Amino acid sequence: MKIWLLDSGSLVIDQAHITWNIGCGNPVRFPVYSVLIQHEEGLFLFDSGYDLEHVKAVLPFELPEQTPEQTIPAQLALCGFQPSDVDTLVMSHLHFDHVGGNKLVPGARVLVHAREIAQARNCEPFEHFGYSDHGWDHPDARLVPISGDQEIAKGLHLYETPGHTLGHYSLLVAPEGAKAMLFPFDVTYTQDAWDRGLQPGFHIDPVAGVRAIRRVKALAEQHDAQVFFTHDMDAWGSYRHAPDFYEV
Ligand SMILES: [Zn+2]
Repeated sequence: MKIWLLDSGSLVIDQAHITWNIGCGNPVRFPVYSVLIQHEEGLFLFDSGYDLEHVKAVLPFELPEQTPEQTIPAQLALCGFQPSDVDTLVMSHLHFDHVGGNKLVPGARVLVHAREIAQARNCEPFEHFGYSDHGWDHPDARLVPISGDQEIAKGLHLYETPGHTLGHYSLLVAPEGAKAMLFPFDVTYTQDAWDRGLQPGFHIDPVAGVRAIRRVKALAEQHDAQVFFTHDMDAWGSYRHAPDFYEV
């Protein structure tokens, strides 16, 4: 299978949100990206970046930078696909910087944790900004609520990793005979946070978040996986970006 990382631009938050309570007063620009996987069972898109207009309107303090080339349709085109080619969208969780392109991929079924749907529709006050983009929740959205660990296609494993949000999933790509790739998404944002065992400042259950970090670290070790960090500008610079791809 082929795996592309689709660039959605970048945002700025304080370091204290990347490594909870540590590093206050240090704004950090971080990348936002999605993962496209061409698999014999279909074309899968994991997350869909952020909607620039939404962020400008609701979270302008995160200083969004996104060019027209960094939208989901443009990134799919770089890889030779159209939005209608995507069979399945899979949501790590429903924060605004992971769902912004959903409405641009209207035909796909959308796999998302059942608890995440309920929480995003009726979130706690402190989650207001995280769940502020409801563009994923339109009448034609083919939402497929799921729960538990799942192998959604051969070698594509979702693992429940709540803490950052109630229904957060991590992705392990582990085809037989090839090196595994682990996407812990927002369990930890950066390599530094991973190394220090620090979860982001945005979370609903920090105790579950600590357990989720242990879980993804155990998965990485068990599968000898390369770990792809979701919001780490230095790590992002070292990855292959669409149209370049990984093949496993
Ligand atoms: Zn998040």
